[in-house]
Parts: sequence; structure tokens; C-alpha cells
Amino acid sequence: MTERLIVVGGDAAGMAAASQARRRRGVDDLEIVAFERGHFTSYSACGIPYWISGLVQERDALIARDPATFRDDFAIDVRLRTEVTGIDLDRREVTARRLDDGGEVREPFDTLVYATGSVPNLPDWADDDVDGIFGIQTLDDAAALRAWLDADPTPTRAVVVGGGYIGVEMAEALIQRGLAVTLVERGEQPMATVDEDMAGLVAEAMRGLGVEIRTGVTVSGVEQRDGRVSAVVTSAGPVPADVVVLGLGVRPNTALAAAAGLPLGESGGVRVDRRMRVAGVPGVWAAGDCVETLHRVTGMSVHIPLGTHANKQGRVAGINIGGGYATFPGVIGTAVTKVCDLEVGRTGLRERDATAAGFEFVSVIAESTNRAGYYPGAQAMTVKLIAERPTGRLLGAQIVGRSEAAKRIDALAVALWNEMTVDEMTALDLGYAPPYAPVWDPVLIAARKAVDALDR
Ligand SMILES: Cc1cc2nc3c(=O)[nH]c(=O)nc-3n(C[C@H](O)[C@H](O)[C@H](O)COP(=O)(O)OP(=O)(O)OC[C@H]3O[C@@H](n4cnc5c(N)ncnc54)[C@H](O)[C@@H]3O)c2cc1C
Repeated sequence: MTERLIVVGGDAAGMAAASQARRRRGVDDLEIVAFERGHFTSYSACGIPYWISGLVQERDALIARDPATFRDDFAIDVRLRTEVTGIDLDRREVTARRLDDGGEVREPFDTLVYATGSVPNLPDWADDDVDGIFGIQTLDDAAALRAWLDADPTPTRAVVVGGGYIGVEMAEALIQRGLAVTLVERGEQPMATVDEDMAGLVAEAMRGLGVEIRTGVTVSGVEQRDGRVSAVVTSAGPVPADVVVLGLGVRPNTALAAAAGLPLGESGGVRVDRRMRVAGVPGVWAAGDCVETLHRVTGMSVHIPLGTHANKQGRVAGINIGGGYATFPGVIGTAVTKVCDLEVGRTGLRERDATAAGFEFVSVIAESTNRAGYYPGAQAMTVKLIAERPTGRLLGAQIVGRSEAAKRIDALAVALWNEMTVDEMTALDLGYAPPYAPVWDPVLIAARKAVDALDR
């Protein structure tokens, strides 16, 4: 008999799982139906800031595979604009609502993949009946923002609320579109994914671009004119705005999972095992932003919503559903981003994470350059390392600099993943030639400095 797989959520995790399962099992063996409440499948949410800025000109360039491709090449039946509203584990069926005509459908399943992503944190005031306020999570959200930016009257003043990496990327996108941009952040610095000393370099670069940054400021509401936002009300006074973008972080989208009785972990995400099976619920799998995962440095369960994890986790789920064997080994929190030409990379723990996890540690900052100092185009690069005391094990790393800075974090991520000590790292055989690095690579300089700081 043909088994029936239902996928809830048609982006990175869900469609990676569906396509991997299909690669291993033919249509007579496995029928696959994917429900997606939006208008798009398998799109790059990560590319949204670059479409908003105009750097990527076509929205569809962000779409890796559309429903027709899934149907024709993978025999996967994608139902767009269809929102799953209930999962009945006893009857093994989902209920769904067709968003365009309100019709309700019920579909049976043998196997289910829960891949609903995350939901943006919205403040109370965003529920107000005021146009021009946007959370950015899906391509539909981005399309709504683009339509607002392109419409008449054309917005000229933007306020970004929240300075996480999405807020920072959106601020850059909006300034590149020619808007006057103010970023309002409750904390001391935007870009809290790195320590404050490193985030200060990011804030400086953003100011250099013309972004006005107001830190230590909370937002309590908005003002409107004729139903359109006209200002953001903050603890430091009103900030005029024709468009407001929210970047207040996200949380796992688990409402449906919780209602169905799927187990949630301490971080709020769906609890899964290493093979992406929902813990204790046979035939149900989950992947992507909606799950929690193991942090390999602290050993704790965390919610780190990134596309790189969603794709890998979806693939693992799909391989297993397809009859293969794959595991997801956890994360170390590696991420890169940029603000115009300033690049930012991070991996592992920040100082506050290391403290919270109970580690004794030293942290060092090494200033260096991306190329030999005499080579044209050499630019400053700042590397921060956090190493356990007294073992010297690398716990975290951050890099801020210009060309070729961000992806240098990958060497540090590999070292951290493999539990190397900073002592071992000083001898790493990294590539050197004047156009690519000084004779002592910035990573090696930082490792040497960390060894000195350990003072053993
Ligand atoms: C602006 C932006 C920039 C980013 N940049 C990066 C980056 O540079 N690097 C990186 O690694 N990550 C980045 N991310 C994060 C990355 O996009 C996400 O981690 C990734 O998309 C998660 O994939 P997912 O499949 O788990 O969830 P999603 O991509 O959120 O997909 C979930 C899908 O499920 C659908 N859905 C939800 N509930 C239902 C339901 N009940 N019924 C039917 N469908 C439903 C949603 O419409 C959505 O399409 C960025 C995210 C954003 C928003």
C-alpha cells in the first residue's frame, strides 16, 4: 500500500525533507502532499534584504523551486495558500483551510513532517489597525513591504525597531533604497549576536552609512495619519516614520504542534531526536526553525533559527523517511552577515553565554589586517576569541572587518566544532600569500594572544 506523507510548511526544512524522501522512494511507495499557507515554496528568506534593497532585482530569483517543479520533477503535490489548522494524531489526519475561498479540507497521513518555521515577535502596538508596519519572516511579508515601498505616496522615512541581524540587514536595505533610516534598539548596541565591544564596531559602520541609531530606547506605540503610520512613539520621543520594520526576534512556530500534543522543549521548540523524529510520537518528524536543537558547546537545548540548520535538518528527516540513516549532530551558532562593506562573523559562545553556562574563560581581541599590510587593499580586521580557562579550549569567536573577514569564521568554527584548544590553533596550517593574509593570519594572531592571556 502507498504510504502518505504530509508536510506542513513549504520552505527550507519542509521541502528539503520532501525532496529527500522522494529521491529515495518512488511514487507507488510514497505519496507526498505539502501544505504552504503562503504564495511561494522553497524561497530564500535570507535573500529578502537584498531584494528589498534592489540589489536582487527579481523576487522570483529568491525562489529555488516552485510548485510546478515539485510537481513535475519530484511528484510532490504542493497546495499553496492552504493553512493547516489542526493535526489529529489519533485519527492521523490534518485539517486545513484554503485561504482564498475559505474551504476546509481534511487529509489523512501515515507520516507527517512539521516544518512551520518561526513567528516574528510582535509588540502589542503592532496589532493596531495602522498600515505601514511590517514583520519580515516570509517572502509574503517581504512582498507586502515591497508593495508599500513602491506605492504612492512613496515612503521616505523608515524606522527599524530592534537591532538583531535581521533589523541590521533591513536597515541597510532601506538606506540603500534611499530612505532616511532610524534604528531603535532597547539594548546598548545593535547586533547583540556578538559581544558589545564587537557590536560597537557594527554600530559605528551603520552610522557611517547614515543610519541613525538610538540605543537604550523602548517603543510604546505608533502615531498615525489617515490609517497610515506617521511616527513611532519611543521613550526618547516620537520618531517620524512612513514605514516601520520590526526586527524583534522570532520564536518557534509551535501553536499547532502544542495543540496537537507534540512535545515542546525548554527553549520552546518542538523536541526531536538526532534523526529529527518528534520525541515519543511515531511517524511524526519536525525540522527547521520550529524545533530546538543541541548546542554542542553548552550541551543545552537551544533555538537558533537559521536557514543553514533548516536545510540540513530537513534533509536528515527526508533521508530517514526515505529509509536511509542520517542524524543532525547539533549546532555551534555560526553565523555571518554584513553591513555594506563591513562583515561580521560569529561562532560558539559570546561572553554572556559562556558565563551563563558556567565556564571560566579568557577573552582577547586581536587587531590585524585581511592582507599583508603592504598589499593594496589591506584593511583592518578585529578577531575576538573566548577560551576556557585553564584548558584553553576555544569556546567562541567573533570577527568584524572588511573584505574576506566574515568567512574567516569558518576556520574558527571548524576548530571549535572539533574542540581544539587555542594552543593547538596557533600551529594551524592556514593558507598564506600577501593578497589573502598577513604572514601571521588574523586567526593565528588571535590564538597566540589567547594563549598568552591564559597565563599558565
Ligand atoms: C530577512 C531574513 C534574513 C535571513 N538571513 C539568514 C541568513 O543569512 N542565514 C541563515 O542561515 N538564515 C537566515 N535567515 C533565517 C532563515 O531564513 C530561516 O532559518 C529559514 O527560512 C527557516 O526555514 P524553515 O523551513 O524552518 O521555516 P520558514 O522558512 O519560515 O518556512 C516555514 C513555512 O511554513 C509555512 N507555514 C507555517 N505555518 C503553516 C501552516 N499552519 N500551514 C501551512 N504552512 C505553514 C510558512 O508560510 C513558511 O513558508 C533569515 C531570515 C529572514 C527572515
